[in-house]
Amino acid sequence: MAGQIPSQFIDELLSRIDVVDIVDARVPLKKSGKNLSACCPFHNEKTPSFTVSREKQFYHCFGCGAHGSAISFLMEYDQLSFPESIHELADSVGMKVPTTHSAAPVQNQQSLYDLLGKVSQYYVHQLQNHAQKGDFNQYIQQRGLSTEIVERFQIGMAPDGWDNVLRTFGGDPASQAQLDKTGMLSHNDSGKTYDRFRNRLMFPIHDRRGRIVGFGGRVLDDSLEGGGPKYLNSPETPIFHKSNELYGLYHARQQNRKLTQIIIVEGYMDVVALAEQGINHAVATLGTATTPDHLRQLIRTAPDIVFCFDGDRAGREAAWRAAENALPLLGGNYQLRFLFLPDGEDPDSMVRQEGADAFLARVDTALPFSDFFFNTLESRVDCNSLDGRARLIEITKPYLQHVPASSYRDMLEQRLADTAKTNLTQLKSRLTPPLAAQTRAPSPMGQKKNQTLSPLRIAITILLQHPDLASQLEQAGEPLLIATLERPGIAVLIALLESLATSPQLNTAALVERWRDTPSEQHIHHLAYASLSFAGEELLGELIGCLNQLQQQAKQQRHGLLSDKPFNTLTDAEKQELKDFK
Ligand SMILES: [Zn+2]
Repeated sequence: MAGQIPSQFIDELLSRIDVVDIVDARVPLKKSGKNLSACCPFHNEKTPSFTVSREKQFYHCFGCGAHGSAISFLMEYDQLSFPESIHELADSVGMKVPTTHSAAPVQNQQSLYDLLGKVSQYYVHQLQNHAQKGDFNQYIQQRGLSTEIVERFQIGMAPDGWDNVLRTFGGDPASQAQLDKTGMLSHNDSGKTYDRFRNRLMFPIHDRRGRIVGFGGRVLDDSLEGGGPKYLNSPETPIFHKSNELYGLYHARQQNRKLTQIIIVEGYMDVVALAEQGINHAVATLGTATTPDHLRQLIRTAPDIVFCFDGDRAGREAAWRAAENALPLLGGNYQLRFLFLPDGEDPDSMVRQEGADAFLARVDTALPFSDFFFNTLESRVDCNSLDGRARLIEITKPYLQHVPASSYRDMLEQRLADTAKTNLTQLKSRLTPPLAAQTRAPSPMGQKKNQTLSPLRIAITILLQHPDLASQLEQAGEPLLIATLERPGIAVLIALLESLATSPQLNTAALVERWRDTPSEQHIHHLAYASLSFAGEELLGELIGCLNQLQQQAKQQRHGLLSDKPFNTLTDAEKQELKDFK
């Protein structure tokens, strides 16, 4: 739950603001039925699937799955942090955010961002003034980088020497400790502390909001012995998480807020070289494979994602890892494609050789996901033999299980059936149900699944969507008894009942906020927008029915537990309980 800012304050704030005003000021909304709608600001689309509910104080996109309260909207749309978003909303209605002692970690992180900002300025200054600057500037010229691009990406230099940054920014123990937290220092076995980056061209890594969270450093001369690895990145720190950050995404968005395509390349030199040629929509991962977190950010930013890899074996392997990570995200309103460059080339060398137009023409020929996926798997078997085709089904099966149920998945299955020369019905019977289908898959409009929902899920859904009903529950079952049920989700139901007992005025958005940054967050969001097959008067009856059912299940569970125990080990109270059980 939210942590630093008291949840009562967040409740109060969310009851005073109107998510409709907040969204409408940024994305003009049109009335459609009970809700308001617009083309989604988080993915590219022509027909509106982004809806805002005044009643729930919540937005939801049926296309890409974006959803949340006014707080989440500002975080996503204005790229604010959680506390910043709260401050912004509080300002808009003249409320003052209470400061608590536990706000310290936020303060602390802020000082890390500030510190890295200063280190970056230092590197830029060195590139202009240091005695060694000649070598670095010569290298920059050789790579064909203009002053404009060097400035836009704030490229700098870490001079040779063990303690330039340490001396400049870590003069006393407290500031050295801060500097250490940002990953700018290394320690050797004998306890000596020194600069991590030495004699390197420095690329600051910006987060999506433009704050510097780490650095990448490249040696000038690959053949230089003892220079360490060619590329070196900051380690994981409290503000730098490689699985989350993409080099160049901030700059790409600065150049164009409505991107239609993103090219994922392997290194920061590639991003910068492409930008130099006017291709401003490339991003790079930072020494990791593309993670699902990366992909989620990307598909919200542009509808056409092109992975660009070297044509060699390592490139193919990296591409396959990216494809595997993309499986749970397939089937949405976006396309993923794969581009392989000729062996030995990278985007940097390629674009300098052939220019931007030829490079973009190449990008146009990128393979759709399904082609790359099946080409790779088919190359592992002999599709001309029956045995090979049977094997193809077996090796494809585990991958398809990760693809959410969607027409895209149906088409992948159809293609597998065609290639394997079997029919689809037979094939489907060999494929087991999807594992990851429910997690974060773009939910199709108007799902009618709640016939199969458990009483627990229905109760949570009704309470989230119609919190006012809680005050009409004479007695919400016996929460204490229900709480003993050992089942995932029980804790959520109990927390909802308790929150609404103490603050009956809470709206959906305020309730959902309580689960921010918890493992249940996605699930709660999903239920806050799940469609129910009953409405109006029926809702209260359903809710009471579900709570009674849960109470009954809890009683049975308790009875089972007690009757499993040897009778002589029971306390008198437990014996009485067993007797009372009907
Ligand atoms: Zn969307």
